[in-house]
Amino acid sequence: MTAADLTTRPAVTAPRLTIDGAAVDGPNGLDVVDPATAAPFVRVPGASVEQLDTAVTAANRAAAGWRRTDPAERRRLVLAFAGTVRAHIDELALLLTLEQGKPLARAKGEIESGLRYVEAAAATELADEVVRDDASERIVVRRVPLGVVAAITAWNYPLLLALWKIGPALATGNAVIVKPSPFTPVATLRVGELAQEVLPPGVLQVLAGGDDLGRALVEHEGVHKISFTGSQRTGKAIMAGAAGTLKRLTLELGGNDAGVVLPDADPAAIASDLYWGGLSNCGQVCAGLKRLYVPAARAAEYAEALTDVARTVRVGSGLEDGVVMGPVQNAPQLARVRGLVEDAAARGADVVFRGEAPDGPGYFHPVTLLRTDSDDVGVVAEEQFGPVLPILAYESVDEAVERANGTPFGLGASVWSADPERADDVADRLEAGTVWVNQHPMLSPDTPFGGLKQSGIGVEASVHGLLAYTDISVLRAKR
Ligand code: NAD
Repeated sequence: MTAADLTTRPAVTAPRLTIDGAAVDGPNGLDVVDPATAAPFVRVPGASVEQLDTAVTAANRAAAGWRRTDPAERRRLVLAFAGTVRAHIDELALLLTLEQGKPLARAKGEIESGLRYVEAAAATELADEVVRDDASERIVVRRVPLGVVAAITAWNYPLLLALWKIGPALATGNAVIVKPSPFTPVATLRVGELAQEVLPPGVLQVLAGGDDLGRALVEHEGVHKISFTGSQRTGKAIMAGAAGTLKRLTLELGGNDAGVVLPDADPAAIASDLYWGGLSNCGQVCAGLKRLYVPAARAAEYAEALTDVARTVRVGSGLEDGVVMGPVQNAPQLARVRGLVEDAAARGADVVFRGEAPDGPGYFHPVTLLRTDSDDVGVVAEEQFGPVLPILAYESVDEAVERANGTPFGLGASVWSADPERADDVADRLEAGTVWVNQHPMLSPDTPFGGLKQSGIGVEASVHGLLAYTDISVLRAKR
């Protein structure tokens, strides 16, 4: 597809809500905008509060049976679910590109990655822990499901985030209701429909809707856990809203990750990894590198090396061959990113590179590299979540560490050096849920991922993430 073909986008059949095993319509339709054209490409149903009640009742009924299902059979069904999604990967990737904007190959990669998390969750058994088993007493610590989990997701990785939550929730015997972002509900709704081919009714339901629907899930008596990925502001509102029913929470919130490049690193050798560490997915990555600290004496070299990479990046529609960066996902976010760049420039930041991007009407933003030495400008102090990377000079490594840590966020951070011992030493001093060395951000299903400080509560992935979908119930039997 070429840029001229933007007017002839593929026609899409609207997926429906999934409630109690059935595909149903809802009264609050949502027009979903293709960010490459800024025009709606499909209208999907949005659920009413009455439908939410029906779904919660169905989920509780389904959860009662699902938790009693033999764990091996449950795991088999979760794997069958992953297989069904994989069998439709091309269809889902297209929906994802149309609603999110990312290039088609990246959309496919997102789904593949999410499925690996589902499969890893299905492969992990949580064994009982026998504390004591003697002549007087037998004590066993068992992991029991929570009941009904609400998975509330953001628009940057709609399917990855949904699959991160669906896999462990189902594998541990819970029912799940997924509420995708109103900006990107389409592929997730389709996953809900596909799941009905293999899962019992009510075990996995998908309800599209706005923030109000999210609030109703958070406050609902029949929901036992919220697994949320999104902004810090919403995470705080969810924590407050969930207090009335003492729900369990996993909150994966925003980040403002710093990368600290040590003086011995080689700009030419690491520029590509630094660039993609910050600006993959059009910079809309929770744990993307968002502030780059480089030695003052080498700041010009880093600006140049990053510019060399940025020049090769083709921005355009995710359906176009050769495009590696799509549009920003939505209009308010585009306005925010533009505003942050303008503000930084007005406050003395040097725009060292501004790439090419198609003119509207899509939400395209050129790759922008900035040099500023102030941590107080919005583009440095806040999560910019767009294709903009500020490069900041430091005089001493101690100063760089202090500035990297000087934020309420604590999702990720990275150190870049050819000297492993020095890198580890600096890594030990960075306050983040994950500290990477010579890479940023790498995630995998066998490794927990979560934020320190105000970047979240709890982790996803690995056995640690799985445990968060369970409670402890102790069996204590007198002999
Ligand atoms: P958002 O917080 O605005 O919305 C996320 C979801 O929450 C949406 O489904 C929305 O409808 C719902 N929601 C909004 N208000 C709610 C409320 N009061 N109660 C319940 N649900 C509510 O976030 P966003 O703009 O969609 O996503 C971008 C943010 O997500 C960024 O800050 C990014 O860093 C973060 N994020 C974090 C991770 C992570 O793993 N830490 C991953 C991806 C994105």
